[in-house]
Amino acid sequence: MKKIILFLAFATVLAACSSVMFTGRRQMKMIPASEMASMAVQSYSSFIDSSALSTNEEYNEMVQTVGANIKRAVEQYMTDNGYKKQLALLDWEFNVIESEEVNAWAMPGGKIAFYTGIMPVCQDENGVAVVMGHEISHVLAGHGNERMTQQLMAQFGSIALSEAIKQKPELTQTIFNTSYAIGAQYGALLPYSRLHEREADRIGQIIMAMAGYDPVHAIALWERMDALSGGDPVPEVLSTHPSNSSRIADMKANLEEARKYLVKD
Ligand SMILES: [Zn+2]
Repeated sequence: MKKIILFLAFATVLAACSSVMFTGRRQMKMIPASEMASMAVQSYSSFIDSSALSTNEEYNEMVQTVGANIKRAVEQYMTDNGYKKQLALLDWEFNVIESEEVNAWAMPGGKIAFYTGIMPVCQDENGVAVVMGHEISHVLAGHGNERMTQQLMAQFGSIALSEAIKQKPELTQTIFNTSYAIGAQYGALLPYSRLHEREADRIGQIIMAMAGYDPVHAIALWERMDALSGGDPVPEVLSTHPSNSSRIADMKANLEEARKYLVKD
């Protein structure tokens, strides 16, 4: 019996292991990606319904343009590199929300929100591309699923987890909502780990480059963010407090790798 349980545990864990696009880091994601996407659709649409969308034409235009450019580049990359299955689960949406908060976030499936408060920090399309790249990277790297897997594992253990997902959909949705703080304060995400933030920074620079934006702009954007930090509430993009200076140093170190993806026209 013990052997069977051990085998099941091993098989479950093995099935849930995958590696992150671009970085190759091994990760464990036990919630079906389709499940994550459908939970996100529900949460995101109720968030949008209860929010004031920005009427600032310039902001909307910038976010839609950059979103479309990065989306196109990422889809091309995924098509060419064997990620068609993951691509099928992406249903992109980009919205600008009226809020003074300096924030932006993403949900699984490619549901992105920018707050008007972050737009002056972004300044222009290049700055929007830095933030957009970072947020889309959380989606591509499956950070939401990985974080939720960790929470569910703590509650159920690995063997019971797949059963729990099947049999207790409300509970799974509740954990998803908690994970994204839906209900209490929309869009105020629980902080990602420092590891996830650094990974999103690194992939973000790569995908902005693929869309034609020089990843060098990430450095200037983070210097502007740095000048703002200390504010409250802590925006998602600043959530894990790797010191901004170490973050900026990482951005500089990533530059050479990211620029290899830069398309010049
Ligand atoms: Zn982040």
